[in-house]
Amino acid sequence: MTDSIRRELVATARSLHEAGLSPGSSGNISVRVGEEIIVSPTGARFGSLDATTLSVVDLDGAQVSGPPATKESLFHAAVYRARPTDAAVIHLHSPFASALSCLAGLDMENALPAYTPYFIMRVGQLAVVPYFMPGDASLADAIGRRAVRHRALLLANHGQLVSAPTLAAAAAAAEEIEETARLHFILGDRATSALSMNQVAELRRKYP
Ligand code: ZN
Repeated sequence: MTDSIRRELVATARSLHEAGLSPGSSGNISVRVGEEIIVSPTGARFGSLDATTLSVVDLDGAQVSGPPATKESLFHAAVYRARPTDAAVIHLHSPFASALSCLAGLDMENALPAYTPYFIMRVGQLAVVPYFMPGDASLADAIGRRAVRHRALLLANHGQLVSAPTLAAAAAAAEEIEETARLHFILGDRATSALSMNQVAELRRKYP
């Protein structure tokens, strides 16, 4: 079973890489299997992961086996502890979400307007986590606190992080965040008509 999950993780990472969502060796992807987390190793590129050489850490983020895990695996562990029903986490420095994360005056509860119904269906809302220096343990703590109520997070001056019960759902959410952030910049300062509060409420009832 673990073999097929590892292969699915590698295939998901490759498709995100081919979509241009993981520049360089940025980003990391994981699945939770019981009390363990299978996660992409430190410095690995999303386009060339190997199912047999993935890192394994525990739910505190401590190394269990495989090559050294990325320091950002602490983000993944914090999300799994906060969201016991989720089994996949994807963190990306995707270009438009990362650009969005550098804008001033973001709504900390939802960084993107509901331009299309698909954002509500696949993402819900995008809560913001304040900036912390890379490697600061406070960042994983802040992610864990926000993840209790939110499955999609924008890390200020950094990138995006999503969780879901499956890799496919997490990838769909990550792609939707990037696409909606892209729309946000394409629309720029033009007058726009996002969905109304009633339209959003109707979608949330159907897609909780
Ligand atoms: Zn990162």
